[in-house]
Amino acid sequence: MKEVPSSWLNDAEVLALRGPRNPVDPWLPYAYFVEDERTATGLIESVATVFLTNRECPLRCVMCDLWKNTLDATVPIGAIPAQVKFALSRLPSTKHAKLYNSGNFFDRRAVPPEDLPDFARCVEHFETVIVENHPRFCTTACGTFRSLLSGRLEIAMGLETIHTDSLRRLNKQMTVEDFFQAVDGLLSHDIDVRAFILLRLPGMSESEGIEWAVKSADAAFRRGVTTCTIIPVRGGNGAMDRLARQGQFQPPVLRSLETAFEECLRLNCAVNQRRVFVDLWDLIQISQCPFCFAARQQRLRDMNDSQLILPPVICPVCDNNSQD
Ligand code: SF4
Ligand SMILES: [Zn+2]
Repeated sequence: MKEVPSSWLNDAEVLALRGPRNPVDPWLPYAYFVEDERTATGLIESVATVFLTNRECPLRCVMCDLWKNTLDATVPIGAIPAQVKFALSRLPSTKHAKLYNSGNFFDRRAVPPEDLPDFARCVEHFETVIVENHPRFCTTACGTFRSLLSGRLEIAMGLETIHTDSLRRLNKQMTVEDFFQAVDGLLSHDIDVRAFILLRLPGMSESEGIEWAVKSADAAFRRGVTTCTIIPVRGGNGAMDRLARQGQFQPPVLRSLETAFEECLRLNCAVNQRRVFVDLWDLIQISQCPFCFAARQQRLRDMNDSQLILPPVICPVCDNNSQD
């Protein structure tokens, strides 16, 4: 894999800074649950969400922590469909499914291509099937898989940012144009695209983090992406902790996530069934005030569901003493 010399850290450094992986079983998904999400029709509907266990992604993005629940080796043929059946048989019936594999669904060493027909049979009853991928794995296999489904296929990809230097320094091994060319190709196969966008990359100030998250969502929507999810950049994977110690990375604060979300919602997201979400996972880590955290988290959840900018939380503690 070609190294990008100007990344914050190279492949070897990212690997060396990692901690241990969690123990996972190639025949079992490592997590599965049902979550509610606003769908393209505007309804809040249940989504069966399954985190598949498989071989780790071959890329070494500086901010990635998805390797923690992966394996060194490709899983045996049959294991991935077995994981899907295991999870779906234990979850209530839903119309939509997210099947995320901590990497790239169309990476042949992650999900063996021999398993795709059986996998498709497992999910053929869903109205929407969402998998994740990197642009370099957007091959003809995407269209072939899409033709096996009766519902819509949506592919989620990390755009991360349209700030070209920041993207290069993430060691993501793609350019902004690579991402958008992949979007064009997927749309031409009638596949919907969801983009993950990062809030406050290394080297960015709080306000630059907001600015580039909003610019990135805007560019993604203009190119035909239908859903953007904003994710605050976190530490905890070794590499980001190194950058934090060097003064090159600081996670965003919760107020920045609120601001970025509000500005993205002003981009006419509701037009043409577009949606913008914020990732609500582990938000407590970026909270600045225990007094108003629950209210701010609930507001973001409600904004995810309504796609409306709701009245701001006014806190008697931090709004009188705000340094954010
Ligand atoms: S492409 Fe995705 S899964 Fe692979 S290292 Fe980068 S962020 Fe992680
Ligand atoms: Zn507060």
